[in-house]
Amino acid sequence: MSLFKSMDVDNASDKKADIIKGEAEKVKCLIIGSGPAGYTAAIYAARANLSPVVLQGMEPGGQLTTTTEVDNFPGYPEGVTGPVMMEDLKQQAERFGTDTRWGEATQVDFSQRPFRVVVDETSVIEAEVVIIATGATAKYLGLESEDKYKGSGVSGCATCDGFFYKDKDVAVVGGGDTACEEASYLANICKKVYMIVRKDYLRASKPMQKRVFETENIEILFEHNTKEVTGTNVVTGATLIKKMGTEQEEEVKIDIDGFFLAIGHTPNSGIFKKYLDTDEVGYIKTVPGSAKTNVPGVFACGDVQDNTYRQAITAAASGCMAAIDAERFLSEH
Ligand code: NDP
Repeated sequence: MSLFKSMDVDNASDKKADIIKGEAEKVKCLIIGSGPAGYTAAIYAARANLSPVVLQGMEPGGQLTTTTEVDNFPGYPEGVTGPVMMEDLKQQAERFGTDTRWGEATQVDFSQRPFRVVVDETSVIEAEVVIIATGATAKYLGLESEDKYKGSGVSGCATCDGFFYKDKDVAVVGGGDTACEEASYLANICKKVYMIVRKDYLRASKPMQKRVFETENIEILFEHNTKEVTGTNVVTGATLIKKMGTEQEEEVKIDIDGFFLAIGHTPNSGIFKKYLDTDEVGYIKTVPGSAKTNVPGVFACGDVQDNTYRQAITAAASGCMAAIDAERFLSEH
């Protein structure tokens, strides 16, 4: 019985390895990912006659499709919703001939040009240049209640959604630099900001710690874990466990309208790591001032290579850089 099972597994992995060697569709420029970086790269690449193909990935439109209003992207004086903005970007890219497709890149071979990319474990695209714009995914705690209120009080981005909590009480989960930065940002907008920190200290850098300690309307709840986010149709509170697993363990309830996660991001770079240099977290390394990776002809833009700014506008700008770098590369090679 176990022998058959292991043979099946071997066959499956052989089959997977064979797919990438199979017949391929040839394209000039493949863009993997469909957030602001991917579509901006597509707009520039299409206008430069690179006939880009955009693979939309698992979450067409990227992280912005999970937010509501976007008020900080230049050009929308009245604001715009994330999904509408991404549809606008898609249509703009398609207006110049971008071929947008459903599908996820599941394997790559960047060992030689043209590069090979497997789509949905079934078909193969051979591309002269590849632009990676696969983004990053905000980490969540994994609570059922948290999932229920995503977009209705639970958010992974204070800069994106903080404004909607003007003069309200909110909580930020995490004790790193992002959590401190987001708590400080929210403290300027909201009435009160709780920081929910699981340890009895902050992991953030000293200047960031000083900033939150000195902000009057930030209250740090050390040694607190979130049990659940509560509410009706929207978030109205959270139930926390203080000193979890100790004799002093107790349940604490807080009234809040917004629950912000700042416990880190995971860059979506897994399938590229065999070929591309990444930092210790997995962000793809690019040559400063460019979108070039360590593999000539492969470029990276947006949140998959940006651990610092992570904004739609910076992602879009780096998408533009990637397309220009790709166009120059093709004209030289
Ligand atoms: P970090 O990994 O540094 O911090 C994550 C925080 O979330 C930690 O306090 C961690 O707790 C907490 N956490 C993780 N998982 C859970 C969980 N399941 N439940 C509760 N708490 C959890 O991530 P950041 O995004 O803050 O920072 C990433 C990198 O980016 C860092 O190198 C940081 O310095 C850098 N950065 C720099 C900035 C700047 O210089 N302006 C701004 C933002 C980020 P614990 O400590 O217990 O592990």
